[in-house]
Amino acid sequence: MKFISSDAIPELLEALSASSVVWAPRELTGSGGTVMFERWRTGDPIDLEHFSSLSAKDVVLPRTEKLFGYTYAFGGGLGGAFGNGAPAGEQLVIEPAEPAPPAVLFGARACDAKALDVLDALFNNPEGEAYNDPQYQSRRKSLTVITLACTTCDEACFCSSFGNGTSEKAGSDIIVYPVEGGLLAEAVSSRGEALLAEPIFEESEQAPPPLAETARIEGLERLEEKLPRLFDDMDFWQEISERCTSCGFCTYGCPTCYCFNIHDEMRSDREGERQRSWDACMFALYTQETSGHNPRPTLAHRYRNRINHKFSYYPENQGKILCTGCGRCIRGCPAGLDIRDVLRAALEEAPREP
Ligand code: SF4
Ligand code: SF4
Repeated sequence: MKFISSDAIPELLEALSASSVVWAPRELTGSGGTVMFERWRTGDPIDLEHFSSLSAKDVVLPRTEKLFGYTYAFGGGLGGAFGNGAPAGEQLVIEPAEPAPPAVLFGARACDAKALDVLDALFNNPEGEAYNDPQYQSRRKSLTVITLACTTCDEACFCSSFGNGTSEKAGSDIIVYPVEGGLLAEAVSSRGEALLAEPIFEESEQAPPPLAETARIEGLERLEEKLPRLFDDMDFWQEISERCTSCGFCTYGCPTCYCFNIHDEMRSDREGERQRSWDACMFALYTQETSGHNPRPTLAHRYRNRINHKFSYYPENQGKILCTGCGRCIRGCPAGLDIRDVLRAALEEAPREP
C-alpha cells in the first residue's frame, strides 16, 4: 500500500492537471450541498465525503459531444445521388472530432468505476466490433480512474447486490481508502502502479479500513429469465410505474444509462456539426416515430423497457447487468419510486392469468 496525506492531495491534482484533464467531485457553488464531478482547476476544493448527485459518466459520454464537423465546399464533387450527399457541384468536407486528451477521474466510487466496466462491454468490446464506438474508446483509453472506496453508505445504496459491492475493483486503476490524515492507495492496473511509483506517494504498512456493506437484493441474476415472462403483464407494469412523472432524472443521473440522440447543429447553410446528446428512454418522445406512432405509448411501456434493458436485454446481449446499485435513481426520483421495490416485485411476481 501507498499513502498520501490530505495536505498533498491538491499537489497531486496540480501535478496531474499539467498533462491531463482532471475530474473530481466538488460541491456546486450556491447549490446547498449538491456534489457533481467537475473539471478540477488549481485551487478548487474537492468533496470526498458526500456522494455525487449525478454519476461521472459524462467523463466518457459527455452530455453533448461533437461527432464530426461538415462543410459544403465548391470543388466539383459528384454530389446528389451519385456522390456523398452534397448538392451537385459541391464537395462535403468532413472534419473528424479531436482525439480525447489524457484524463484522470479522481474520487469516483466503486459503483461509478464498475459502470465504466459495464459500458465497456458495449462501447469498447474488442469482440463486439459492430458496436465499437471510436469516441467512447478514445476517452476510455486515455482515462485513469482513481476510485474512493466507501467506508460509509446510505439507505439508497445497494451495490452489495452486485458482485463485490464496495470492494469492487472493475473499472479502476487505483483504489484509495480514507484513513486518518489522508488516503491509502492500492494499484489495480499497470497504469495505476506507474502513478503510485511517483514520490508524492509514501510506502505504508497500514491496513485498509473496513468497507461499508450496503443493502442487498438476492437473486438479481434470475431477472434475466424472469422478466421475459412478465413482459406482457401490463397490469404489473402499470401498477409499479403509476407514480412516475417521466422526468428522466433516473436515466440522466444513472452511471450506466447511455441512451443518446444524434442531431445536426447548423452554423450556416453550408457548415455545421453533427452532435450526440444524452437522451432518456423515460421520455415519451424518445420512441415517437415520424408518422406519429409510438411503440411505447404509456409510462408503463417506458418503465418496462427501462427495467428490461438493465436486467434482461443487456445481460443477454452483453453479459453484464446494466446497474451497479449506486442508488442515485432512488435518491433523486421526485415521485419516490424505488427501483429495489420494482426488482423485488418482479422477482416475486408470477405472470397473471390473461
Ligand atoms: S426519476 Fe422517478 S419520476 Fe422521474 S422518470 Fe425516473 S422513475 Fe419516473
Ligand atoms: S439503475 Fe439506479 S441504482 Fe442502478 S446504476 Fe442506475 S441510478 Fe444506480
